[in-house]
Amino acid sequence: MPDELRPIRMEVGVHRNADGSAYVEWGENKVLAVAYGPRELHPKHKQHPLKALVQCIYNMAAFSVGDRKRPGPDRRSQEISKVCSEALTHVVFVEEFPKATIDVYVEVLQAGAGTRCVGLTAASLALADAGIPMKGLVTACAAGKVGDRVVLDLSKEEDNHGDADLPVGIVVNTGEVVLMQMDGHLTKGEFDEAMGLIDGATRKIYEMQVAALKCKYQEVGE
Ligand code: UDP
Repeated sequence: MPDELRPIRMEVGVHRNADGSAYVEWGENKVLAVAYGPRELHPKHKQHPLKALVQCIYNMAAFSVGDRKRPGPDRRSQEISKVCSEALTHVVFVEEFPKATIDVYVEVLQAGAGTRCVGLTAASLALADAGIPMKGLVTACAAGKVGDRVVLDLSKEEDNHGDADLPVGIVVNTGEVVLMQMDGHLTKGEFDEAMGLIDGATRKIYEMQVAALKCKYQEVGE
């Protein structure tokens, strides 16, 4: 089905040593996000006198894909870290924490297409779990084109044969778009169709994020 999401499962508060954490399974993806902070940024020359730095560090484990991935940072993970850091900076009330850093580590344990969307969705949950003040959660989902059809949330198979991929991160409660990238080519009509699918999907995923947070805090309150 072109408007179908792969199965998604989310859990918050899964890591004992972190200030906040989340684990998301989405299709074949398995992603852990852990958040730390706000804490003083070192080295000091990187500090901003008026606001916090939000740093998202995306990493794909060597065992996360069929062919072993070379461990450590590469251009792709640096790019994903950068766009996710920028997306999260838009929602965190950074002015409340001058000179501080807020760090989120996104570890892809198993990868199967769309990991940046899963990672960003998990990262904002981990920040919320850490109690970081934010104007909203970031919810991300991609749509793409397979043959001449616009399809939501491409699987690995579809991604391999796909002609375009459009990952988008949205703050659902304000409607702001905080991440948008495009691989390949979409016509204006196809782009609008893809954005329509992403809009509907992110609303559903947002409800799951809220439910995951409520689930943890209801348990704590009991
Ligand atoms: N992938 C891989 N090896 C790599 C990088 C990516 O097998 O070194 C796979 C992985 O399943 C990933 C997919 O290719 O989810 C698509 O990668 P892309 O760069 O489009 O990012 P993503 O869709 O994961 O955000």
